[in-house]
Amino acid sequence: MRNENMKTVFIDRDGVINKDIGYLYKIEDFEFIEGVFTSLKYLKKKGFSLIIVTNQSGIGKGYYKEQDFNILNNWMLDKFKEQGIDILDVFYCPHTQEDNCNCRKPKMGMFEKADDKYQINKNNSWMIGDKEHDIKAALNFGITNTILVESGHEIEKKNSNAQFISPSIKEVNNYII
Ligand SMILES: [Mg+2]
Ligand SMILES: [Zn+2]
Repeated sequence: MRNENMKTVFIDRDGVINKDIGYLYKIEDFEFIEGVFTSLKYLKKKGFSLIIVTNQSGIGKGYYKEQDFNILNNWMLDKFKEQGIDILDVFYCPHTQEDNCNCRKPKMGMFEKADDKYQINKNNSWMIGDKEHDIKAALNFGITNTILVESGHEIEKKNSNAQFISPSIKEVNNYII
C-alpha cells in the first residue's frame, strides 16, 4: 500500500548544489554554491526529505566512469553529513541523449524510481533545478512546485515553465515556506 507521506525536495546537482563546470567528476573541482548548507538545513527542519536527481551523461560519453561519480558523490554526501544534513538518496542518469533512456531529464524515470522506493507525496514536494529540463521532468512526474535557479546556466526567464525563479538555492526559504 502506498503511503504518500514523503514530502520531498528534489534537487538537481550541477548548477544548484555546486558550480557547474561541465562534466565534473573530480573532488578538487567541486565547489559548493554559497548558502547550500543553510538552505538544506532549513528544508530538513521543515520536514522535507532531500533527493538529488542528476543527469550524468559524462559517464555515457566516456569522460569519466560510474566509479568516479560514486567517489565524488560519497565525498559530497560526507560533507553534507558533517553539516548534519542527511540526503535521503541520489539518483543519476548515466546515459547520453542518443541512448534514449527513460531516466534522462526531462524524462521522469529518476522520479518514478524514487516514487517506487519512497512513495512521494507529489502535492507537497518541490523541484529545484537550473535548467528547463529539470522543471519539465518534475512537471512530467506531477510536481508543480518548481524553482529555477540562476546560479547555473543562462536561463530564459520568459519561456520558463517554473513556478518561481530564484538567484540561487540560498533564497529558497522565500518560496518554500
Ligand atoms: Mg544542472
Ligand atoms: Zn538515463
